[in-house]
Amino acid sequence: MINQSAALPADARESTQAVHGGEVRQKPYGSLTTPIIQTSTYTFEDTAAVIAHMERKKAELPLLRGEYGRYGNPTQESAERKLALVEGGDAALLFASGMAAATSVMLALLSPGDYLVMTDDLYRLTRDFALNFLGRFGVKTLLVKSGDDAGLAAAVRAAAAASSKCLVFSEAPSNPYLRVIDIPRVVELAHRHGALVMIDSTFASPINLKPLQYGADLVLHSASKYLGGHNDLLAGAVVGPQALINQLRTARNQLGGVIDPHNAYLLLRGLKTLALRVAKQNESGLQVARFLESQPKVRRVYYPGLPSHPDHEIARRLMRGFGGVVTFEIDGDLARTGKFIDALRLPYIGPSLGGVESIVEQPALMSHFAKDKAEREAIGIKDELVRLALGIEDAEDLIADLQQALDQI
Ligand code: PLP
Repeated sequence: MINQSAALPADARESTQAVHGGEVRQKPYGSLTTPIIQTSTYTFEDTAAVIAHMERKKAELPLLRGEYGRYGNPTQESAERKLALVEGGDAALLFASGMAAATSVMLALLSPGDYLVMTDDLYRLTRDFALNFLGRFGVKTLLVKSGDDAGLAAAVRAAAAASSKCLVFSEAPSNPYLRVIDIPRVVELAHRHGALVMIDSTFASPINLKPLQYGADLVLHSASKYLGGHNDLLAGAVVGPQALINQLRTARNQLGGVIDPHNAYLLLRGLKTLALRVAKQNESGLQVARFLESQPKVRRVYYPGLPSHPDHEIARRLMRGFGGVVTFEIDGDLARTGKFIDALRLPYIGPSLGGVESIVEQPALMSHFAKDKAEREAIGIKDELVRLALGIEDAEDLIADLQQALDQI
């Protein structure tokens, strides 16, 4: 709506962009921080002002003022500009949650008969939406095992041959096994067949991975995680080229899942410290993963920064850091794993990740509780699996806590 960012040097680096990018330099009342413009509607001085605004809108010129909250808000737009700069895309759109972003993009881009090709290690609700919801509208989903390159290529070829539109969707790193898809290779394959590629890089954040740089068409984030960074907001984001973002903005206006001004403010604030937080989480992630891998009561550790991870080489090539989530298996069963989790003193037990507080969960008892053991195992969720999302506590304290909890089982 109000499109005047501070004039930053063209070569400003990531943290400078994260602090100053997207902000209007001189703000109302001399406020340093961008205010929360808490309004649902905007008023006009007179009819001439209405006409001037509508003429600009009709001509698709940058708007100079607000009209209605669902179409945009200055706090939200500052956060969108900042995120686009940090992610390295033309433009960003913010939504009420990561799911609002994912579902809006899929509904906007796919029509009956179109195909969604998805890697199968992914957030449960994204999978459920594709299979159960989009399926009702005639969109076909092909689920490919994460890491099965030949299977992915075959699915893209089959989908492209059978449909006018195909969207390839993958998380990078994925949930919970932290698989990292070879984005440049998949983009080359998809584009050769006229398909678009969308990467959910929630687990990486733009500090560790910039999928657009490798040719992806769109990047998705649950901004509730690293971007917000304080376990206190729900938001979603899509970043990409201007033409696609314009199309998605129209969809957001209609579907209505826009972020609210207060959450946009919290996100703006969180983004300013993104690089600091993620650097700390990368460091702790590697230390904790190495510690766990050395423990006899831990059967297996999944962390892309470890040479034992199946995608270590891809992660080293594409990522600048490996993130703050470490997934591992306790050498035991459901109960012994629960006992270990209960013995931990620092991480909170809960879903989610990416905030300053560490959070731990046993996926079999949290995200996949409704499924029975056989159903869980069919999709790779073992009883003894633990997902530890590190916050910004000191790694030494986190490791000492893990050690004492392991000693108790
Ligand atoms: N994508 C990933 C990888 C996630 O982990 C999640 C949520 O946990 C989502 C999307 C959905 O985001 P939100 O919870 O903000 O709706």
